[in-house]
Amino acid sequence: MQIPFENPIYITRPLLPDLENVSGKLQDIWESRQVTNNGKQLQTLSQRLEEYLDVQHLSLFNNGTLALLLGLKALDLKGEVITTPFTFPATVQALDWNQLTPVFCDIDPKTLNIDADKIEGLITENTTAILAVHVFGNPCDTEKIQKTADKYGLKVIYDAAHAFGAKIEGKPIGSFGDMTMFSFHATKLFHTIEGGALVFRDGALGRKLDLLKNFGILNPEEVVLSGLNAKMNEIQAGIGLEVLKGIEEERKKRHLLKKMYEQHLRHIPGIRIITNLEYEQSSYQYFVIEIDEYQFGHSRDWLQKELEKFNVYTRKYFYPLCSEFDWYANLESAKAENLPVASTCVRQVLSLPYYGGLELQSVIKICKIFQELHADSEKITQL
Ligand SMILES: *Cc1c(COP(=O)(O)O)cnc(C)c1O
Repeated sequence: MQIPFENPIYITRPLLPDLENVSGKLQDIWESRQVTNNGKQLQTLSQRLEEYLDVQHLSLFNNGTLALLLGLKALDLKGEVITTPFTFPATVQALDWNQLTPVFCDIDPKTLNIDADKIEGLITENTTAILAVHVFGNPCDTEKIQKTADKYGLKVIYDAAHAFGAKIEGKPIGSFGDMTMFSFHATKLFHTIEGGALVFRDGALGRKLDLLKNFGILNPEEVVLSGLNAKMNEIQAGIGLEVLKGIEEERKKRHLLKKMYEQHLRHIPGIRIITNLEYEQSSYQYFVIEIDEYQFGHSRDWLQKELEKFNVYTRKYFYPLCSEFDWYANLESAKAENLPVASTCVRQVLSLPYYGGLELQSVIKICKIFQELHADSEKITQL
């Protein structure tokens, strides 16, 4: 019988750089006296990230949500955008703030990404774009999505908040579609505490994005468009440069943890690993499983509560579906009967503790707890 962990095991912990190095960075910033507005730290981080992500055009923002919101604005989209209900609220809220109507498309039961085969059937004369999410860092079917987009002249935007550093057949994740958003929130693999970036194909968008994130100010005398304040400051950028130094090691640690989880959970009936190592260049953002209530013997919700008794904290990520938000109640595409796969998966997914500082022994113990909880259910069915 497993006994509970002495201290709570949380779902994630931010990768924190060495405090002394951060102090050194702060000293540099203090000495420069430029603490925001396109300073040296931001320019350096921008360059480093272009290298790391292997992309040409990148623009930094104070968070991923505003990056996406202003990215959609820069593309000058109108009407309807086909997207996924299985995502973080920010994805669809970025559409809302642009007066764009989401059209929810069901998801692929294997990757939980938008089902590329179901997009075409949702296109109307008002459709202008597809907004897909590389959920949990597993890449979308970018080839099929692009094919559909090209056929109808649609823009393609990716929310890659979970996919920092991921690749598809060796190609960088940011090289697909017209635009890709990354989030650098503290819970993400790479972070700047709060922050985000856009990567885009058309270099000319860079100037427009610079205006959009800085009130549309062209020069001290001219304001040329209605923008927002969405700039990344020097402290964010400086910390990002320090975090970046630890990324490779963090990825290696997470790789081992994932292998350990896979090895010990694979044989338990009713548990499917969504973030499996099949994608070798995965971003190692989350470790997510799906629980088949009938095969496992218990529901996801029951399991989550039982794990808490062992001091293990998991998250129903994502839950609920974005299509269930009140303000979409009158959308035909938001109806559960039009989203059968998403409506099932949203009751089965569970994100488990996963971060470089998590000990291998803790992962093994968590897996043993799973085994016991499943074994219990076998006893019940035998009675
Ligand atoms: C974290 C996240 C966002 C929002 O990014 P912020 O930087 O927190 O604004 C958007 N989409 C997805 C899928 C996310 O996980």
